[in-house]
Amino acid sequence: MPPDEPINPKTRRRRPPATGGENFSFTLSARQGRARAGLFKTPHGDLLTPVFAPVGTQATVKAITPAQLQALDASLILANTYHLYLRPGDELVAEMGGLHQFMGWSGPILTDSGGFQVFSLSDTRKVDEDGVTFKSHIDGSLHRFTPEKSISIQENLGADIIMAFDECAPPCEREYNQRAMERTHTWARRCIEQKTRPDQALFGIVQGGVFPDLREQSAAFISSLGFPGHAIGGLSVGETKSEMHAMLEVVDRVLPEDKPRYLMGVGSPEDLVNGVLRGIDIFDCVLPTRLARHNAAITRSGRLNMMNLVFAHDPLPLDEGCACYTCQHFSRAYLRHLVVAHEMLAATLLSIHNIHTLLQLVRQIRLAILENRFDRFAAEFLAHHANTEESE
Ligand SMILES: [Zn+2]
Repeated sequence: MPPDEPINPKTRRRRPPATGGENFSFTLSARQGRARAGLFKTPHGDLLTPVFAPVGTQATVKAITPAQLQALDASLILANTYHLYLRPGDELVAEMGGLHQFMGWSGPILTDSGGFQVFSLSDTRKVDEDGVTFKSHIDGSLHRFTPEKSISIQENLGADIIMAFDECAPPCEREYNQRAMERTHTWARRCIEQKTRPDQALFGIVQGGVFPDLREQSAAFISSLGFPGHAIGGLSVGETKSEMHAMLEVVDRVLPEDKPRYLMGVGSPEDLVNGVLRGIDIFDCVLPTRLARHNAAITRSGRLNMMNLVFAHDPLPLDEGCACYTCQHFSRAYLRHLVVAHEMLAATLLSIHNIHTLLQLVRQIRLAILENRFDRFAAEFLAHHANTEESE
């Protein structure tokens, strides 16, 4: 690792942008069609890609300990800047030694920029060219995010991968998407300018809604800025699956091959396979833990709602053939009992199974790419895997 550069306000603007590339490297090990298997090195460990990141919104993957995440062989987890800025505050996290130490997770962490959450607060936020003013969902207090503020919060939090502050527009409104994309581009430059920590990789975000020309323009502009990785934002927010796939195909043709691509907030089993088929390396999604808290298991035969009476006397595991701790030790009858009795262990055991299922799927995808049989794997998976997205 190279020594830290001195931060001198007079010379700072003359050195190359501190996008973080020096402590990170990405190499492609194999590819088949557009699918890629790679290795992304970060200061807190290696990510074998494709990789799926469970989400720990409030610096905790809900109902799961870091030791359990380690046992699941999770490599990357995501934490949310908006939530941690409001509570407990990024300065407090920094004072406690940064996110890794604060939450007891020594592996790689990614933080989002806070933009997505802020733009979701559609009634209580106001956007201008400089940033966004919004009300806290906790106590209604007034706050302001700018690109500079988002980066300084993410530097306090200390994740390995941090994200540029972007504007996420409703996917189908063309004029709004054009404006939001232009703002996202201006803000991307300001994020690069603001960044100081060489041990964090700053990823740029491609926007442009469902409009191929905007996506193409955005991917070309964002990749011209020298980021060590690129994210595709503003998808899986209300557009159709075929629109999402079309946008991924446009962006895939423009983004540089030698840097990782991250599809933000997407992670059902079908989305993982479809994303990898279109050149994506990194995914995150709340799906496995959110479903677990709603008593649902992701299995190869679709979603199981564990409240269902049909499981009351069922001695089988959630998914026969699943190697997770939950399936190795507990019956559907026991899990249904926990769910009906509102026992906390239900959320833990279902989360373990659901996270394992997605991590296992990306491991199988990676192996299939390395063994040059991903095309068959994907075709078979998409033909036979029961749809687990009916309620979304
Ligand atoms: Zn299982």
